Amino acid sequence: MKNRLVDIVVVGAGASGLFLGAELKGRDFLILEKNSKVGSKMVISGGGKCNVTNASLKPKNYLGEQRFIRNIFKQFDQNRLLSWLDRRGLNLELRKDGKYFCKNSAKEIVDLLKREIDSKKILLQIEVKSIRKINSIFEIYTNRGTFRAKKLVIASGGLSFPKLGASSIGYDIALSFGHTIKTLNPALVGFTLQPSEFFFKSLSGISTEVNIKVGEKEIKGSLLFAHRGVTGLAILNTSLYWQKGKIEIDFIPNIDLNTLRNSKKNISNLLAPPNRMVKAFLVALEVEDKKATLLNSKDWERLENLKHYIFAPAGTFGYSKAEVTKGGVEILDIDSSNMESKKENGLYFLGEVLDITGELGGYNFQWAFSTAFVCAKAI
Ligand SMILES: Cc1cc2nc3c(=O)[nH]c(=O)nc-3n(C[C@H](O)[C@H](O)[C@H](O)COP(=O)(O)OP(=O)(O)OC[C@H]3O[C@@H](n4cnc5c(N)ncnc54)[C@H](O)[C@@H]3O)c2cc1C
Repeated sequence: MKNRLVDIVVVGAGASGLFLGAELKGRDFLILEKNSKVGSKMVISGGGKCNVTNASLKPKNYLGEQRFIRNIFKQFDQNRLLSWLDRRGLNLELRKDGKYFCKNSAKEIVDLLKREIDSKKILLQIEVKSIRKINSIFEIYTNRGTFRAKKLVIASGGLSFPKLGASSIGYDIALSFGHTIKTLNPALVGFTLQPSEFFFKSLSGISTEVNIKVGEKEIKGSLLFAHRGVTGLAILNTSLYWQKGKIEIDFIPNIDLNTLRNSKKNISNLLAPPNRMVKAFLVALEVEDKKATLLNSKDWERLENLKHYIFAPAGTFGYSKAEVTKGGVEILDIDSSNMESKKENGLYFLGEVLDITGELGGYNFQWAFSTAFVCAKAI
């Protein structure tokens, strides 16, 4: 197998590499995967059921070049993905929030993709170390010798979850062919705390609905107090748009404090979040828990902090906990009609290695599958 000149070599048998393989039927290709299994992230994703896509798919669900994203989804959107899967016997479960999951287990989609690919074309435990192009042929150096290909597809993902095989190889290869890499950071990840918020730690396990302002974005959803900091849907999505500095959290999104002023109930009983949480915030804000009618103007001013809580995360939980890597291969150097590099003929990039990252909700698998489809069609 080694040293034979192959038409197409794909680096990585994750979401995008497998989908590409499934679409390359009849072609001369090999997928090189460093793990001993394929689709490792898919298998554990979405609580073991894989959140494959979302009924509402818009470029604004992604951080990155909006026109490029639109061009990709014009060619292969969530409806085309759903019918692609349906034609092969996989019906997904649509949940109330618009997310599509496998009905029983994420293995359903991984097994389907595996069935679509001749198993001899996936080579496991092959770690790609570096690439050179010699006389218009890519030489692919691995832990098991050298492979040669006319076309090379990078489907090696980002840096998050190194224990599942993540590596920097995609970025290294891109750099070696003159691509720019937009700053990489863990995303869809929890935040750690500054000393001013250490009291959050005592609330570990409590979840509450919040609105968060991060830059121009407003994000609604749950915030979960965790041992190391804060996480939950709203925080994970916030991490996608956060670039150091402050965010503003509304901990009482459906409450207008002015409507509570004449109540004879204690303030801790008037606010929506769990009582233990409200009490901890009252202590931090130095507001005594007493009847609303007995609070003075200074108290009301301090309570406004619950609506406009300024929070500067110390950092994130890092790549070991992040669902994705934001940043990546500069998108302006990629052709959206086929995913080919504008810097090097025959070199293609798919999925998360690119500088486009989706919010929580199935958007990142959809991106991986859509980019793979566009590439397969053109290659
Ligand atoms: C815990 C978790 C849960 C997630 N849940 C969801 C979800 O429910 N819905 C969603 O849309 N997204 C989810 N994501 C994000 C999603 O998994 C990724 O965005 C998606 O898998 C990216 O696809 P990809 O093909 O670009 O890369 P990957 O799927 O990461 O595949 C890259 C492959 O390349 C291999 N590889 C890396 N380096 C080398 C090398 N040097 N040589 C050979 N092979 C190599 C890796 O082992 C891997 O198999 C989740 C991520 C995590 C970590």
